[in-house]
Amino acid sequence: MTDAIRPLIAGNWKMNGLKASAAEFDAMLTGAAAVAAKADLLVCPPATLIAAFAAKAAGKTVAVGAQDCHPKASGAHTGDIAAEMLADAGASAIIVGHSERRADHGESDDLVRQKAEAAWRAGVIAIVCVGETQGQRDAGQTLDILRGQLSLSLPGGSKADNLVVAYEPVWAIGTGLTPTAKDVEQIHGFIRELLISRFSDEGAKMRILYGGSVKPSNAAELMAVKNVNGALVGGASLKAADFLAIAKGCP
Ligand code: PEP
Repeated sequence: MTDAIRPLIAGNWKMNGLKASAAEFDAMLTGAAAVAAKADLLVCPPATLIAAFAAKAAGKTVAVGAQDCHPKASGAHTGDIAAEMLADAGASAIIVGHSERRADHGESDDLVRQKAEAAWRAGVIAIVCVGETQGQRDAGQTLDILRGQLSLSLPGGSKADNLVVAYEPVWAIGTGLTPTAKDVEQIHGFIRELLISRFSDEGAKMRILYGGSVKPSNAAELMAVKNVNGALVGGASLKAADFLAIAKGCP
């Protein structure tokens, strides 16, 4: 963990959650005070729940975010949601370029960059996801893949207060598998070097989250790794007890 950078624990609820899930979110709001010294908390529910969750979170220490946005501010794009609409509903951050969006919807690095710029246009933080597949890892291409994704998905003008990088090895998402702490240290160190070479001091201060099968039992080890500034959490973010326990694992 880089000393000066306050960790962020971000929950990605994916396509899970109905109005009744507000009870779990309430439990997160209640328990957040106990981990406030450790990390910032962000919950990204499905778009249908953002406004209700944001209303509950007003004045509390859990922020609410979104999982995707359209690059344009408005127009004839049936079923899509603009960053401005998400901000209007109460989102303060938007995840872009998640591997499920890249795989299921064929999102390119260029589109991901446009979405990050859309988040900024709406006045919210962009959380840009990058990560290699199992095949790319097996072929020894991890660093090349990350270099390419970061170079094309991160907009020029990225700063520590408008951009968060999430390193999520695709093979670790939802599988229960995680890289070793040594591998995470090497890869986050590589990402840090790229960020500094492109964004100078801002790159030194940017948060780099690790994502992929983070749970209470492995959080402390992963969060203690140099240049790991928090986590992007999928499955374990659906339960308040697990989500808060992960935040407690921050050094
Ligand atoms: C994710 O999808 O961003 C993720 C990290 O999922 P999980 O924690 O379930 O592996």
